[in-house]
This record gives sequence, C-alpha cells and structure tokens, in this order.
Amino acid sequence: MLVPCTGLKKDGSVCGVIATTGDPALCRHHRAGGRSNARVPLSAPVQALESIQDVAELASWAAIEVANGRLSQSAAHAIAATCREWRQSFAVSETQESAARFIDLVEAMHGDRDIMEALVKSKDPQVVAARAALKR
Ligand SMILES: [Zn+2]
Repeated sequence: MLVPCTGLKKDGSVCGVIATTGDPALCRHHRAGGRSNARVPLSAPVQALESIQDVAELASWAAIEVANGRLSQSAAHAIAATCREWRQSFAVSETQESAARFIDLVEAMHGDRDIMEALVKSKDPQVVAARAALKR
C-alpha cells in the first residue's frame, strides 16, 4: 500500500511523496539518515597505477561500482579514460624497452668477429634482406 510522506517541505506544506517507512510515514528524503541515494565515500582498490594489474583492478572495480549505483557514470568515464591513457603509455614504454634490449644484443654481436663474419657472408634470403634494409 502506498502511503504519502508526512514530512514537511521547506515551505511548511506536507511532502506527500510515497513513503518508504511506515511509522511515521516518511519518504527517502525525510526519513532518518537522509536521502537513500546519498553518496557513500568510495575507496579505490589500488592506491597507485604501477602495473597493468593495478589498471585492470581499478577498471573492473569502477564497472562494478557503476553497476551497483555507487559510482557516477562521469566518474566511471574519467577512470576509464585514465586507464586507457595509462595502458597506451605502458605499451609504448614496453616496446621501447624491448627495442633497447634488442639493440644491446646487436651491439654485443658487433664485438664478436665470428658472428659478424657469419652475418656478412650469409646468403640466407632473410639475412640478405635485413642487411639491405639497414643500408636504406
Ligand atoms: Zn517526504
């Protein structure tokens, strides 16, 4: 049964919104504890984005908080954008680190006469093509 709220508005008139408590009949705005949709302070599951696991944990937490109505859409979008940005810069730095390790290997190989002679003498089509590409 729908009962109107007996609370009073700022102008002194009776509220009349559907009550969510029985005795006294009060709506979500007037009952003790205030609004039912008042924001509860949230705490992110991670304190810093230091690994892709941190990013994944934050993103999945945000998705669940939105689904449960505890996090606003705009906050979730901001988190998603931050995670996307972090993931892109992480991917770039991983590629650069990988390339740097390969360059270290090639520089080490330059010091090995046997490897360099084998490389120069090689008739393997892929090695020949790779040598030609270096001269471009
Ligand atoms: Zn009310």
